[in-house]
Amino acid sequence: MACEKTILDDLLCRNHEWAQRTAETNPALFPALAVGQSPKILWFGCSDSRVPETTVLDLMPGEVFVHRNIANILPSTDLSSLSVLQYAVEVLQVQHIIVCGHYACGGVNAALGQKKLGLIDSWLRNVREVRAKYEKELEGLSQKEQSKKLVEFNVIEQVRSVLKNANVQEAIEERGLEVHGWVYDVGCGECHVLQCPEDPEAHVFMVKNPRAELE
Ligand SMILES: [Zn+2]
Repeated sequence: MACEKTILDDLLCRNHEWAQRTAETNPALFPALAVGQSPKILWFGCSDSRVPETTVLDLMPGEVFVHRNIANILPSTDLSSLSVLQYAVEVLQVQHIIVCGHYACGGVNAALGQKKLGLIDSWLRNVREVRAKYEKELEGLSQKEQSKKLVEFNVIEQVRSVLKNANVQEAIEERGLEVHGWVYDVGCGECHVLQCPEDPEAHVFMVKNPRAELE
């Protein structure tokens, strides 16, 4: 009886073919990657399978440092994302940080609902806090519009969370590190730039602190 090919066999086969093909078209790539990495971009995105950053940005291995979790959240108590942030900013010296949310985000939609989901509810508390902060803006919108808007507000708040980080602030001041908020449309494959307002009250700036000259 012929052995049936499993999904894992298929993955390994596809990986092998990809590695061969890539080595043929770009012979310098793997030897260079074996030595080290120097990505210019740090990507904070959602774990959603529809938003694989390397694919949607049309990048090669080595071009983007990545942290993904459910609903692209950066809580100030999360050691995992904070470690990624510190390593990317201090050691890799990335030039851009992109926080990218996406429409039709299951995590964001769950935060809009009341259903009990278990452990993940503790994680989604962060998005529920964003929802509470923007309650007025979300009021009266259809469910679909609420979902879209909360995705965007969540990106804005996570960008602010990044900007509040001491390593990030220092890198903005010293070498012009830039932080960006994007949203990805799973229905068409396009990324859009979100306007992320600064928060002077919280001392949160996208660029070099304008007050720094005066201090
Ligand atoms: Zn998501």
